[in-house]
Amino acid sequence: MAVIKETEKIVNPLQESALNKKGLCDYVINIASGCLHGCTFCYVPSTPAIRTRQTQLSEKGVSNPQMDWGKYLLVRENVPELLEKKLSRKKTWLITPSGQGVVMLCSGTDPYQNKETASITRSSVEILSKYKKRVRILTRGLLWTDDLDILIRSNVTLGMSLPYLDDELSRKIEPQAPPPSRRYEALLKGYKAGCRLYVAMAPTPPTMTLHDFKRHLEKIIAINPEVIFWEPINARGSNGKRMVAAGLDFASTVMTKKSWAECFKRQWDDIETAAQEVGCKDRLHIWPDPELRGYVEDTRLEQWLYKPTVEKWDSLAKT
Ligand code: SF4
Repeated sequence: MAVIKETEKIVNPLQESALNKKGLCDYVINIASGCLHGCTFCYVPSTPAIRTRQTQLSEKGVSNPQMDWGKYLLVRENVPELLEKKLSRKKTWLITPSGQGVVMLCSGTDPYQNKETASITRSSVEILSKYKKRVRILTRGLLWTDDLDILIRSNVTLGMSLPYLDDELSRKIEPQAPPPSRRYEALLKGYKAGCRLYVAMAPTPPTMTLHDFKRHLEKIIAINPEVIFWEPINARGSNGKRMVAAGLDFASTVMTKKSWAECFKRQWDDIETAAQEVGCKDRLHIWPDPELRGYVEDTRLEQWLYKPTVEKWDSLAKT
């Protein structure tokens, strides 16, 4: 399928989010359907955000939204205008202990994947800042370094997904995203400019070892992230099939619940040991999966579910 780039209209740009479970936010703004980075492990095409839109996507020429993930992008150009209207009228603001009232861009696409999305993201961040909202950006893109003038603010934290620093491996796993070495350079630029930063060391492939985690964390702490999120690859949906189709043999080793849970436990122990040895365990934030119940002790799991991060935020305007 040729790459499809279109636009679409939405009604509500600001959605309450369940990602407070991971300490990320209470609201999300998704500025597009689809994502041109096309990460093979991406779970988004398996979620209702895409599954419930098969008809609309088919009208745009996308016949198989799951297997064609990475080949379509429907940009929501009206997000900034709708967001301004919504915030000007909004009387209440959800603030949970673990979500902290934060608005995240984005959970289902990359906010800085190209110039069109970068422009919508920039306008949205400016509006959110005008209304004194806390903002969390999560991206694999590099274009945010052009927006440092609006991102270096105490209400904004910028995070990049950086599970490893192996560019060759990245070409197979996240084929259309900028290579990790370039992402790291962008983070260094943000660090030198004084940006609040975090890293999502996620998702890590099952081939990574304690030694790999240590080497990676040593590089990461050089950009002084406030928090380092971690989770391993979960290959149990249609993403597992995409990984296998992309020639990623390791995916077949974690496609059953038992093998995935065992890998999760091993890497969880390894990342905690590595963080302890590197001296950043206080900043490590595990993203647990409730499906691990029965494989790890309940107390170990519950310790991380809905846990606030160690990030510090300024006080928040309620409206
Ligand atoms: S950048 Fe994020 S949303 Fe886009 S394909 Fe990769 S994991 Fe999915």
